[in-house]
Amino acid sequence: MYDPALETLPRERLRERQWGRFAAMAAELCATNPFWKAAWRAAGAGAAADLRGWDDFARLPLTTKQMFVADQTAHPSFGTNLTYPLERYVRVHQTSGTTGTPLRWLDTQESWDWWARCWGFVLAGAGVRPDDRVYVPFSFGLFIGFWTGFEGARALGALAIPGGGVDSLTRLATMDALGATVLVCTPSYALHLAETGRARGLDPAKLPVRVTVHAGEPGAGIPAVRARIEECWGARAFDHAGMTEMGAYGYECEAQAGLHVNETEFIAEVIDPATGRPAPEGELVLTNLGRLGSPVIRYRTGDRVRLAEGPCACGRTFARLEGGILGRLDDMLIVRGVNVFPSAIEGIVRRFSAIDEFRIEVRREGQLDEVRVLVEVAGGGDGALRDVREAFRAGLGIRLEVAAVPPGSLPRFELKARRVVRA
Ligand SMILES: [Zn+2]
Repeated sequence: MYDPALETLPRERLRERQWGRFAAMAAELCATNPFWKAAWRAAGAGAAADLRGWDDFARLPLTTKQMFVADQTAHPSFGTNLTYPLERYVRVHQTSGTTGTPLRWLDTQESWDWWARCWGFVLAGAGVRPDDRVYVPFSFGLFIGFWTGFEGARALGALAIPGGGVDSLTRLATMDALGATVLVCTPSYALHLAETGRARGLDPAKLPVRVTVHAGEPGAGIPAVRARIEECWGARAFDHAGMTEMGAYGYECEAQAGLHVNETEFIAEVIDPATGRPAPEGELVLTNLGRLGSPVIRYRTGDRVRLAEGPCACGRTFARLEGGILGRLDDMLIVRGVNVFPSAIEGIVRRFSAIDEFRIEVRREGQLDEVRVLVEVAGGGDGALRDVREAFRAGLGIRLEVAAVPPGSLPRFELKARRVVRA
């Protein structure tokens, strides 16, 4: 079960606890998990006795998504990251496939319960209680997505309401009929659902939703996106971070001062992506501690983050990522020599209430990216376009081409939004 006392442990106790759990897991992996045995033997740590403390941990190899994809390709269907015989596993899911070949991931009963426990931290951080009714508008398919948020709501004792297999209007009607107080979905979908309601004369802010929890995109961590979701729903919006292969590791507290990393269930490191050395800002590297059947250790997430200094007002001692996930390292654009994350562009576009949807078109020219931003402006208007251009210049320090497209012409997203299109 979710245990709030863990969130305020002194740092030394937290580190001891992490090490105890890691060492116990490592002993098991060295005995039975072919993937980690091979990876660590190559790095001179083939036995549990080779792992005596944090210095040894820091010498373990960094791992990447490509390594697991290659392993699953060479050893179909599930690869070699299996600590137990296949009959121990009870769930199979896969990544959304937005960035190449989907990764499959198996869970045991224990690790599925662990997922629900991790989501307990996420939901409790957002102030969700057992008397809440949590609506999850999600197509409950192979993508792990909000399956685990749904399980987490149940584990917390709240009422979990599945919202798969129906259109947006039916979803709004269900939320109304069942008195949903919490909405769990991607930031894009929260905006789309609200837009759909408004187009039919239904104001989502009149529904009893008081909290929204988002994942799948950096959106809810971007101030302008958050403000817009909160305005549409008349609710407080919370950001959360997780990955299919890793787990639900990051969440906001009521102070909303960045993402806390759940350090009872994960070990977080931040490295300079070029050198691999520890850095206050750089790539987030994670290890999970409760998914023993298929764990991930020293995993390069590809997410750029900045560690916050000082304690959080909420009293949690967990590390904090300032501004949440700042962007995907492989999504970073270089526009006339300036590094720009698509999330920074979104942060500016979302300040304009007349813009419902947008798309970023990227054309590579040599080593540089040429960017054009397409926006749907309600009622058209050159004035709005001029304002957006000026906001880009002021906010990013560069000029971007901005063009209007007819309202409703760009795609809407239920899962991870694909708004960056490369020509
Ligand atoms: Zn906090």
